[in-house]
Amino acid sequence: MSDKKTALVTGANKGLGYEIAAGLGARGYRVAVGARDEARGETAVKMLHAAGVDAFAVPLDVTSDRSVSEAAELTERQGGRLDVLVNNAGISGETGPGWIQDPTTLDLDVVRTVVDTNVYGVIRVTNALLPLLRRSASPRIVNISSSVGSVTWQADPNIDVGPVMAAYSPTKSYLNAITLHYARQFAGTDILINAACPGLVATDFTGHQGRPAQQAAATAIRLATLPDGGPTGSFFNDDGVIPW
Ligand code: NDP
Repeated sequence: MSDKKTALVTGANKGLGYEIAAGLGARGYRVAVGARDEARGETAVKMLHAAGVDAFAVPLDVTSDRSVSEAAELTERQGGRLDVLVNNAGISGETGPGWIQDPTTLDLDVVRTVVDTNVYGVIRVTNALLPLLRRSASPRIVNISSSVGSVTWQADPNIDVGPVMAAYSPTKSYLNAITLHYARQFAGTDILINAACPGLVATDFTGHQGRPAQQAAATAIRLATLPDGGPTGSFFNDDGVIPW
């Protein structure tokens, strides 16, 4: 078993996930690049290698039990344990102009797809990788959420949480709630699990509006590298803890 810590990032072939992978790699982690498209994953690994990062590709579609279980097997063969899991893969459910998802006209198939990726995907991946995480001396799990999932902020008329996104935003609220339940279940263990909001990030997801992904990756990287005894069961952005 290598002394080097291993971090798996889902949806790491582009966007925020890629920059989290690159940032962890720059901090000496061996990075498992989760990507549902094998070719896109290999391209990202090549780019990371060119940047001096120790990385390998892990074909991983978070909506598929089989893909997730094969990804766990591959990760185990690569190092025997996992130190960091970043559940980053996510979709918006696409929308019309302005990203509006009107709850009164929502297509339930869209809702199901977004929940399957953003919520069930996280549970599926986390549970499949837990046996490997439990072999680490300091396991860390980071769930990439969003401030639009903050029910407190959604309910506050003085806070701008952007357009009504009735398919996407509740998946992040659900993810936040699940994060808390994992944290409760992990109480008394070394596993730290937190949710992170990256802010508005210039990726394909937003049509490249927002700040650079490299900058937005900072909170997730901080949570992935927390020291023992660090916070768990909390929701952070760059400024600190934000309300559920
Ligand atoms: P991108 O669309 O750039 O990247 C999303 C990544 O998730 C891609 O690698 C994509 O793979 C992957 N993905 C999607 N579905 C699956 C799946 N079923 N299995 C595996 N991987 C999948 O988006 P961002 O980088 O912006 O988003 C990353 C995370 O950050 C998401 O969880 C998002 O909700 C969250 N977030 C983003 C914000 C923003 O402003 N961008 C704001 C707040 C939160 P592929 O390339 O194959 O499509």
